[in-house]
Amino acid sequence: MKTYQLFIDGQWVDAIAGETFDDYNPYNGEVYAKVAKAGVEDADRAMTAAFEARQGWAATPAIDRAKILNKAAQILEASMQEFAEVLIQEGGGSVGKCMFEISQTVDLIETAAADGKRVMGEVFHYDPTKISMTMRRPRGTVLAISPWNFPLVLSMYKVAYGLATGNTVVLKPASESPVIGLKIGELFEKAGLPAGALNVLTGPGAVLGDALIDNPYCSFVAITGETVTGRHVAQRAAAQLKPYSLELGGKNPLIVLGDADIEYAVKSAAFSAFLHQGEICMSTDRIIVERSILEPFTQNLAGLTSHLPVGDPSQPTTFIGPVISDKQVEKIDSHVKDAVAKGAKLLAGGSHEGRLYQPTLLADVTPDMKIYYEETFGPVASIIAVDSAEEALAVANDTSYGLSAGVITKDLEKAIYLGENLEAGMVHINDGSVDADACCPFGGCKGSGHGREGGQYSVEELTELKWLTIQKTKRQLPF
Ligand code: NAD
Repeated sequence: MKTYQLFIDGQWVDAIAGETFDDYNPYNGEVYAKVAKAGVEDADRAMTAAFEARQGWAATPAIDRAKILNKAAQILEASMQEFAEVLIQEGGGSVGKCMFEISQTVDLIETAAADGKRVMGEVFHYDPTKISMTMRRPRGTVLAISPWNFPLVLSMYKVAYGLATGNTVVLKPASESPVIGLKIGELFEKAGLPAGALNVLTGPGAVLGDALIDNPYCSFVAITGETVTGRHVAQRAAAQLKPYSLELGGKNPLIVLGDADIEYAVKSAAFSAFLHQGEICMSTDRIIVERSILEPFTQNLAGLTSHLPVGDPSQPTTFIGPVISDKQVEKIDSHVKDAVAKGAKLLAGGSHEGRLYQPTLLADVTPDMKIYYEETFGPVASIIAVDSAEEALAVANDTSYGLSAGVITKDLEKAIYLGENLEAGMVHINDGSVDADACCPFGGCKGSGHGREGGQYSVEELTELKWLTIQKTKRQLPF
């Protein structure tokens, strides 16, 4: 078993209190690693290091920052097996999911490196006596708080774009995926990042989160996590007038209209509902199907669902690995049991062996069931029947969340109607709800947060817009 230290100011150090915590493998329940447990003093140490490094890093030409980022991308690409091992061992991701996440992260770092060279401003020509322009400056020190489900790529949105735009970063990975966070520190250390520009702190979110947000050197907070955590972080940051961005939970719909290609719709639904055992913020939770195709669609999807391979995530044939924790299994099970008790029909799954939860499909799900409104974050999808595109839209928008949505139809008019009116930050026509690309705006509305990550949208979030004027001639003054 390996032990891991904190990464602060370019050094690998123990927590000041000398404490550690266990990082578990969710498949076999064994301790995968012993990891330093940072406390408030470590948080202050990391923020101070980031603060002290920030002038030097902000003054580094973007092209030199890009070279370091591109080097990190190359090292990551050459170390895919090593990173995949960590993602599988501590996160329970299947081989396919983990390799996909790593390639996506390589692309993300390279895109961020390029975007860092395109931080731009504008010049206004309204007054010949002055040059009036906007410019974007780094926020300063970015606090990046990331979740465990796609821990590499979701940390990297904040780390790579934070660094590319001239900020220094303190990364606080989730306690279920601390090693991948520390591997990000190691990656940038190998790539030649100056000491202090990136610091990685592992430990309890509630303790470290508050200490890091409250630290006067923290200038921006970017969190991906549950809506309840995001609300706390937002309130804490707002009380100190610190800007923040929130990537939070979802209850994502996939609308399948009566003219859909059923085979394609079934595969799209299964992929976006069950990839990474449904532990994706964009996972399809609610499959809203027009009644004219309800029967064949349901039958086919139930068949596919009950044949998805469940098991050891390190086996390349496995599609569904273990759910991250016993607590999460309990939540999933309580949603399924509550729905069945209130009249939902179980079409597939509904049981588990330890943390291996069978992919589960429910029909006749109604608003009085917990699963109708609450995020389940597991391999469970509900089918809801409707009679029209209008009804599908009303059902889809009947949620406090607004992250992602999919629509499957050949009818262009209805596709546009739904695309424009679905209350979600991301809508994919003729696709499921799971998609992301480094250059596109990733994020949601309503309870799914605000702010966008990716491409120029990350550049905007992570830089401060400044208006700068230069008088070419003396300004006319009244005295
Ligand atoms: P979580 O909210 O439990 O934890 C997220 C991070 O916040 C972790 O690093 C955790 O340690 C930290 N944290 C916990 N309490 C904190 C506090 N009081 N102050 C500051 N930080 C604190 O979420 P999770 O279980 O790691 O991830 C799953 C959730 O994340 C789901 O709700 C999922 O939908 C959401 N998610 C959203 C997106 C998105 O982009 N919208 C992407 C992935 C996951």
